[in-house]
Amino acid sequence: MEEPDITACGFRYNGDMIDVIAGFDIGGTKIALVLAELSGAVIHRVVEPTDTTSVAIEVKNDTVIYHGLAIQLQRMLHEAASELGEMDIRAIGIVSAGPIREGALWNPTNIVPEGIAPSRRTQRRVMPLVEPLSGAFHCPVSLLNDCSAAVLAEVMFGVGKEVTDKSTLHLAYATISTGFGVGAWIDGRLILGKDGNAGELGHVYVRKDGLMCGCGNRGCAEAYCSGTGIVKNAHALLQELPDLQRDAPEFCRLALDDAPTSSGASLSDVLSSITPMRVFEAAAANDPLARTVIDDVIFAGGIALAAIACAYDPQCISVGGGIALAHPEILGPIEHEMRSHLNVRAPEVRLTPLGSRVTEFGALAIAQSLLAH
Ligand SMILES: [Zn+2]
Repeated sequence: MEEPDITACGFRYNGDMIDVIAGFDIGGTKIALVLAELSGAVIHRVVEPTDTTSVAIEVKNDTVIYHGLAIQLQRMLHEAASELGEMDIRAIGIVSAGPIREGALWNPTNIVPEGIAPSRRTQRRVMPLVEPLSGAFHCPVSLLNDCSAAVLAEVMFGVGKEVTDKSTLHLAYATISTGFGVGAWIDGRLILGKDGNAGELGHVYVRKDGLMCGCGNRGCAEAYCSGTGIVKNAHALLQELPDLQRDAPEFCRLALDDAPTSSGASLSDVLSSITPMRVFEAAAANDPLARTVIDDVIFAGGIALAAIACAYDPQCISVGGGIALAHPEILGPIEHEMRSHLNVRAPEVRLTPLGSRVTEFGALAIAQSLLAH
């Protein structure tokens, strides 16, 4: 799909101090910084790898505190500010996959600093962000998880953009990416819960004795309807096949494209070649095993969306994330599955209009909401 153009907005520095908001989107491999006018019109965007090599590490009792992330964010913002000229940074929004507590990341699974000694890797890892940034830039700063931020982005810049009175909006956002997560804006406010985990609907139970999920339980929706789930499910099914060449012909053919051998693809060749993209490709070529994996994505996704509809009763569920954006054709069948489980009026299901940058818009929406208070 075409990405929305957020870079061209006619910004010109005219010598006066301009008011800006800043948004950080922190991922396991890269960090994006966007600077925008107070309206949300983006004037600057920079992306760099997530630095896990800093030695700014402190150990307090059973906690390892990693300051490297906050240091990197400060440097990125200082560099952008000096490049753009005089500006007044009014608010900063930060987005990360979490888990999040007290303005910091707590044991993030996707960010593991290299400098933490192996003996300390089982200890709690805390990465403070809000306090160091508000101290350095003297403005309000807030940190939210990616799905809560994404639904804020939908409210401000996406499906709710044209609605002036945001208190009338009831929206949910679901991501089908590495995992499955949800954000909800209901009755005109963000739904967070006591720890900010109100959107953990990827862990609704869909199958008895099902696949192991990253959360440690079996049979969660995320164990089937996510990038990691697709690969795991394909692996499990392939290992059960009585005749690999007969029962998964497309997988064998695709594996041979990677590593041609005269004797045909072995099970280990096929297993190591599996990616979500490969599974979709094989399903499109009517491979029966790949069809089963995609049918499981649709079933689990439908149950999770039905849970969102029952829990929050939104008007619309906007769906994003790498898997949904690359394969929007699964949304129709997932919506159909969702409807079959509902006796309440079903929400509309649509692909996010904000594309893969929905969380960056979310970071800006957080900053905007800080100014509104
Ligand atoms: Zn789970």
